[in-house]
Amino acid sequence: MSTPRFKRILLKLSGEVLMGEGGLSIDPDTVARVAAEIADVRAQGYELCIVVGGGNIFRGISGAARGMDRATGDYMGMLATVMNALAVQNALEQIGVQTRVQSAIPMASVCEPFIRRRAERHLEKGRIVIFAAGVGSPFFTTDSGAALRAAEMKCDALFKGTSVDGVYDADPKQVATAIRYPTVSYDRVLSDNLKVMDASAVALCRDNNIPIVVFNIRERGNLARVLAGDGTSTIVQA
Ligand code: UDP
Repeated sequence: MSTPRFKRILLKLSGEVLMGEGGLSIDPDTVARVAAEIADVRAQGYELCIVVGGGNIFRGISGAARGMDRATGDYMGMLATVMNALAVQNALEQIGVQTRVQSAIPMASVCEPFIRRRAERHLEKGRIVIFAAGVGSPFFTTDSGAALRAAEMKCDALFKGTSVDGVYDADPKQVATAIRYPTVSYDRVLSDNLKVMDASAVALCRDNNIPIVVFNIRERGNLARVLAGDGTSTIVQA
């Protein structure tokens, strides 16, 4: 591999990335496909942290909209991310990739608690560390969890895997003339309210100078291409 732009990355996987066509919240075939992508880039020598979302199963805000206590719903959402983390771990280990799951909400018989120095050691040993339960508090999202862990683990970039190939000036699924930004500043994302990640996550990345790379993770081989600098993406930076 020629000198990589990024050596250690944090990959944010939204819960919806794990869903299949058939409406299953966690579709084993889809998870296996995502795991194969991740295994490819691990084999190329990248150090990988993963933060998984839970929106395919539950979001506190949706529960609150239907009368549920928001904090309770958010804890349910965080538990959903642990299920997703275990699914990703299982798929990676089935293809021989060593992983550890660390949860921001301690769950001793299921996975490790989040301990930064221990996570660092796992990365040194070549394991992928999957962070679950976001930041561990309600009223946050896993985007904020991803930005926080990227900063704590000194990641060179935050890769946000989505179902579109970057950030557009309008919704590309609705507006045929929408234009993709190859790069865009953190401030522009915040001032124009561009749909990248929550404002708090974008601000945390800006304050810690962590580029956010938005790319389509549904396209086979795209993670490796984007990491190598050849794929289509949008880079949010200063
Ligand atoms: N959540 C939370 N605190 C966190 C992370 C997540 O309360 O630090 C809850 C929140 O209800 C959120 C849900 O977990 O809606 C699932 O996470 P998210 O919506 O970020 O998942 P994604 O959209 O990435 O699938």
